[in-house]
Amino acid sequence: LTSKLPAIGTTIFTKMSALAAEKGAINLSQGFPDFTADARLLERASQAILTGNNQYSPMAGLPILREAIAGLVERHYDRTVSALDEITVTSGASEAIFDAIAALVHHGDEVILFDPAYDLYEPAVALAGGICRRVTLLAPEFRPDWQAFAELLTDKTRLVLINTPHNPTGSCWLAEDLESLWQAIASRDIYVLSDEVYEFIHFGESVVSVHKHAELAKRSLVVSSFGKSFHLTGWKVGYIVAPKELTVELRKVHQFVSFCTVTPLQQALGEHLTAFPEASAGLAGFYQQKRDVLRKALAGSRFTLLPCEGTYFQLLDYSAISDLDDVAFCEWLVDHVGVAAIPVSVFYQQAPEGQRIIRLCFAKEESTLIEAAQRLSFL
Ligand code: PMP
Ligand code: GLN
Repeated sequence: LTSKLPAIGTTIFTKMSALAAEKGAINLSQGFPDFTADARLLERASQAILTGNNQYSPMAGLPILREAIAGLVERHYDRTVSALDEITVTSGASEAIFDAIAALVHHGDEVILFDPAYDLYEPAVALAGGICRRVTLLAPEFRPDWQAFAELLTDKTRLVLINTPHNPTGSCWLAEDLESLWQAIASRDIYVLSDEVYEFIHFGESVVSVHKHAELAKRSLVVSSFGKSFHLTGWKVGYIVAPKELTVELRKVHQFVSFCTVTPLQQALGEHLTAFPEASAGLAGFYQQKRDVLRKALAGSRFTLLPCEGTYFQLLDYSAISDLDDVAFCEWLVDHVGVAAIPVSVFYQQAPEGQRIIRLCFAKEESTLIEAAQRLSFL
């Protein structure tokens, strides 16, 4: 068998969560909450199943949910989108990203990513026959270098993949970054795929979104996920908002990848969002408190805390503690400290020489965070 993805192994999330379970370590590696979601939403999901919402939904998603998403985009970003033609519900943000790349990237097209990048982008581009070009984001701020970006543009550039708030670094773009992006691509035939799954988890004034940049929005597909916004990563319900002509292409792929996502979960989310349109409004404050608990508990340790402006990930530089590379250090941490983390180098095509940074997920109960920080503070 000739592998289509020879350089790809099992994801770091699978590996580290399995290792954490095997060794009984506190799992701050894979990003998921260790607390429950709103009981009213869970109740709606049970009711949706029991009352017969168990067959295929319309291919683009249940109307009640698409209408609720249109309302959410209108309220948060002052952008009017058509529930009928511009919103598609998918099996998680993952499917949305995969579908978008499969629909837009032709063999030999170039796709620009920012390094480090979430792990599913590059394999999806490779399977579509595209080639990734990466702009390096440098620690500790991880700001995009727009000069370096412009130098990567060629006649073959087809798509730019952006992600803010950013996994794994927790950095957030500024409005001027979107404007720089727009200026660089405006005169070219290039689309933007904007991964905004952490849209409600940002700790500054307001989040930067493609939804708010009218010109860029016309060229973009914007992805989000109810997994992040409602503490339900296992539900795998996401969505993608894009102008009609892009949505038409996207749905050609979506209809054959999954056709539709789980109907009762869409029904529950649609009802919940209709009843509580501001359900995600408090999310930033909720996670900011967790971030601050973790940061405070680690303040006296030998780790250096990097800035965290959004997402539920905190980066730690461990250069003062160990010379091991980050993969080896994470394995060592599980064994010797009982805490599982993610090595940041796995998100890079080329990690900066000698960089020693790990990622911790703080979507956890305070007691979990404090126990983990106490263990880490002995180092
Ligand atoms: N993009 C980013 C940046 C993510 O962190 C995640 C979730 N880990 C996804 C996409 C995928 O989201 P979902 O679980 O909804 O497929
Ligand atoms: N997005 C999650 C993270 O970054 C993991 C999702 C997954 O395991 N596929 O930790």
